[in-house]
Amino acid sequence: MIYVVEDDLNDQIDNDDVKNQVIYSIVVPLFNEELVITESYNRLKAIMDSTNENYEIVFVNDGSKDKTESIVREICNRDEKIKLVNFSRNFGHQPAITAGMIEACGEAVVVIDADLQDPPEIILEMIKKWREGFDVVYGKRTKREGETFFKKLTSKVFYRTFNKLTNIDIPSDTGDFRLIDRKVCDTLNTLPEKNRYVRGLISWLGFKQTSVEFVRQERFAGKTKYPLKKMIKLALDGITSFSYKPMTFFGYFGGALFLIGFISFVVDLMRDELGNLSVMSLSLFLIIMMMMFGITFIAIGIMGQYICRILDESKNRPNYIISDVIHYNKKNSKDK
Ligand code: UDP
Ligand code: MG
Repeated sequence: MIYVVEDDLNDQIDNDDVKNQVIYSIVVPLFNEELVITESYNRLKAIMDSTNENYEIVFVNDGSKDKTESIVREICNRDEKIKLVNFSRNFGHQPAITAGMIEACGEAVVVIDADLQDPPEIILEMIKKWREGFDVVYGKRTKREGETFFKKLTSKVFYRTFNKLTNIDIPSDTGDFRLIDRKVCDTLNTLPEKNRYVRGLISWLGFKQTSVEFVRQERFAGKTKYPLKKMIKLALDGITSFSYKPMTFFGYFGGALFLIGFISFVVDLMRDELGNLSVMSLSLFLIIMMMMFGITFIAIGIMGQYICRILDESKNRPNYIISDVIHYNKKNSKDK
């Protein structure tokens, strides 16, 4: 009899587990987003409620200095589906989405920006593809509204260069807005590398990938949190993580230069023999020297980028520091 009671109890616990099982985790990085966070939460909530399945929204506050944290704390107090991961300072967008993916416990994990440039409604289309059996569903921008010509141009040039330099293909006009299956998320979370270029890592992992198209909207409010300096850092992280070609290029370039120099030397010697020595003007000589020094320093700078990243790996510091995790029902939060 006792066994029957225990079985009943276990069945009930199992049923509760199934009911409480999180199907979708939505990861949202936040850096000074006080102007957009409430609207973003409302739109995400409406969309996710319409699935009639269990979900969670993991907000990662990347060291915001405005009211972002207090607004999300207040949301956490009334909505048990919301988690807030607070960083001890600003570590950057890629560390923020990495932390969100580690904290997420859903069967499918969606990464989306807070500023509503990526329309939350597209998540439903991503879920449909996931249900069809795809492991990665990335958002592909067919049009980018409200973005500067400079941003569109640099993005196009970067993806073209990236795909030429590396053996992996990141489709142009994609960002980090994507859905990944639990198994992709778990695999990604085991990769220990620092200076992560998450969209590159997901492409590199493989699995069954597909896309859904969308029109990238204007930022709902506020300004971009990706100034040129952060964009350059992201581009360098991407290229140095997946290609050694920039370093190899300077090796070949040096070799070619040496060959030209050697041939010129032999030609000059022969001219000398004939009593016909060519004399280069001083200003031309200085210009060539300046260009050569420039190229040498670029090469050293590129090597420096790789060396800094090797140093980061060997120091083995964490990608980010979490100051606290806030959750209405903290016991459901993953153990840290
Ligand atoms: N973000 C972040 N840390 C940063 C910079 C940005 O968490 O250091 C977040 C930001 O709050 C937003 C997302 O990353 O949710 C994308 O940033 P943003 O929209 O400013 O970039 P853009 O769309 O202009 O490239
Ligand atoms: Mg944006």
